[in-house]
Amino acid sequence: MIDLRSDTVTRPTEAMRNAMHQAAVGDDVFQEDPSINALEKRVAHFFGKEKGIFCSSGTMSNQIAIKAHTQPGDQVICSWAAHIYNYEGGGMAMHSGVTAKLLEGSSGFFKAQDVEAAILRDDVHYPVSRLVALEDTSNKGGGAIWNLKDIAEIKKTCEAHNLAMHLDGARLFNRLVADGTDEISYAKNFDSMSICFSKGLGAPVGSVLLGTDAFIHKARRIRKAFGGGMRQAGMLAAAANYALDHHVERLAEDHAHAKSIAEVLGAHPAVSEVMPVDTNIIIFHVHADKKADDLIKLLSEKRVLAFATGPRTIRFVLHLDISSAQVENLNKILKKIEF
Ligand SMILES: *Cc1c(COP(=O)(O)O)cnc(C)c1O
Repeated sequence: MIDLRSDTVTRPTEAMRNAMHQAAVGDDVFQEDPSINALEKRVAHFFGKEKGIFCSSGTMSNQIAIKAHTQPGDQVICSWAAHIYNYEGGGMAMHSGVTAKLLEGSSGFFKAQDVEAAILRDDVHYPVSRLVALEDTSNKGGGAIWNLKDIAEIKKTCEAHNLAMHLDGARLFNRLVADGTDEISYAKNFDSMSICFSKGLGAPVGSVLLGTDAFIHKARRIRKAFGGGMRQAGMLAAAANYALDHHVERLAEDHAHAKSIAEVLGAHPAVSEVMPVDTNIIIFHVHADKKADDLIKLLSEKRVLAFATGPRTIRFVLHLDISSAQVENLNKILKKIEF
């Protein structure tokens, strides 16, 4: 089976399972789990942040961050494509009671001037603009990487207007590996960052939310209230720790795989456009007289799984459990497939 539906479908390797098996554990609500404490410290130190908190999912770490930055009624500024807006079950409204101002722009990107235009002046009619959230890499943008200068300019705008800035960094490591961005100077742009281990890094569970000491103190209270205070969860942290040791550099293989598949797709007569591939995600469109679902069905008959993300749009996601041999095989299938 070649499962390209998501980079969440990976299964822990034998070596990762061994690391989990051997993890030292304690009660993490008491902050006595040595494996979790070590992971939080490691990730915070790596990004030059004061503190980190281990959460059960990227959704949870994003939603905790939104709750910690805002009051009910406040306005969160983000892209129309943002995961926090589209794919977290309406959590922003459910948990934080906030409103969203969605910015247009391709690939989920926007610029400082868009933020500037969205910020509301102090007037009783308006919600209070409080938080700007970016997503890097951009999921709906096909794993696209943000321009560093744009991020720095948005940061300046946020500072000028006293807005907090959050990063949904579910796939930030894909970015760091793809273009060698310095993680410490990158992280300086953000008041809070959510980093996932359950995507390309191949751990079964877990994200870390980063921020200042005071922010993480607040986040810890919110995590408890959300029901996310886990006890002997050090086994999960051990998997994330293992992923940091062994699965970061190899993300480059996923990126190379994605590029080679994109090339084959680009030459297929039924494909009208392949979006630029920055990292591990390929988004492509089929011609107007074709249906994405038809190709998905044909592929599944060849034991290739993928999602249609629109009537003529398909997404492939590369990850740890797709080998180079499988990519070669897939490319052969794609070259021959007629539809
Ligand atoms: C996967 C993902 C998340 C978090 O998802 P969980 O399944 O809750 O871990 C957040 N943001 C983006 C962009 C994602 O792709």
